[in-house]
Amino acid sequence: MKDIATPTRTKEILQKYGFSFKKSLGQNFLIDPNILRRITDTAELTKDTGAIEIGPGIGALTEHLARTAGKVVAFEIDQRLLPILADTLSPYDNVNIIHEDVLKADVAQIVEQEFVELDNLMVVANLPYYVTTPIIMKLLEEGVPFKGIVVMLQKEVADRISARPGTKEYGSLSIAIQYYMEAETAFIVPKTVFMPQPNVDSAVIKLLRREHPAVEVDNEKFFFTVTRSSFAQRRKTILNNLTNQLPEGKAKKDSILEALSKANIDPSRRGESLSLEEFARLANALYPAFG
Ligand code: SAM
Repeated sequence: MKDIATPTRTKEILQKYGFSFKKSLGQNFLIDPNILRRITDTAELTKDTGAIEIGPGIGALTEHLARTAGKVVAFEIDQRLLPILADTLSPYDNVNIIHEDVLKADVAQIVEQEFVELDNLMVVANLPYYVTTPIIMKLLEEGVPFKGIVVMLQKEVADRISARPGTKEYGSLSIAIQYYMEAETAFIVPKTVFMPQPNVDSAVIKLLRREHPAVEVDNEKFFFTVTRSSFAQRRKTILNNLTNQLPEGKAKKDSILEALSKANIDPSRRGESLSLEEFARLANALYPAFG
């Protein structure tokens, strides 16, 4: 049987079921088996690995995951795809499709039930582009015990996730993800491998969980408040942003100046120039006055 992801087989499947794409659900299906192989290679799957997929579509990537991983659990929001998946994935007995909005699902609990024997979990997906960041943040924040994430997303978001300090892409998203994960862009993907073609360029990113968070902070929630506040207005100085954004920041300007001095950070610098270590020092110095 030909791969689902060949252009001819994809067209045949879509025609057989009279399927029409829903742009609002970010439905851009992959039609290039080589790209799928590169994705599964990047995820370094083995039969001892479990794979969690978000948005299987008609099963193009799911099929490659089923061939290389021990078990696949895939969350699909669009009910119209369920009978199609039952058909296209019928040769594989190690796939479980869950009809749920991944943003509403109790992913941690489902994963615990579904992967009793496999402790080597990877999230692998061609994400729906309208919700890439909320999906990644949900997976990170809800304690789903995966080792890493290999996902296709907009190149612009991939650039922000893996950005280093001092670049225009570096911001609170880079920090939120790099705090937990080592992030790198694995490869860039041309628009031509999708049906229909998206309007933006795409990339595959690889995130691997760090054994410990990248920096030590006294309070994680406050650390993220400080990083978000520092980028609220990118052209403003760190002092300006913190004064305007932190609760009672204006009244507590002296405490902010004191904390900046304690953390050895010039108040006239911009957020984008601070490393994770500097943000951690700053958040820890500010915490007694704002925590
Ligand atoms: N994996 C397929 C492929 O690569 O050809 C399809 C990828 S397509 C970019 C995104 C898929 O995510 C679609 O099947 C869409 O219906 C599904 N989807 C969109 N929003 C979702 C959500 N909130 N929860 C679960 N699936 C979602």
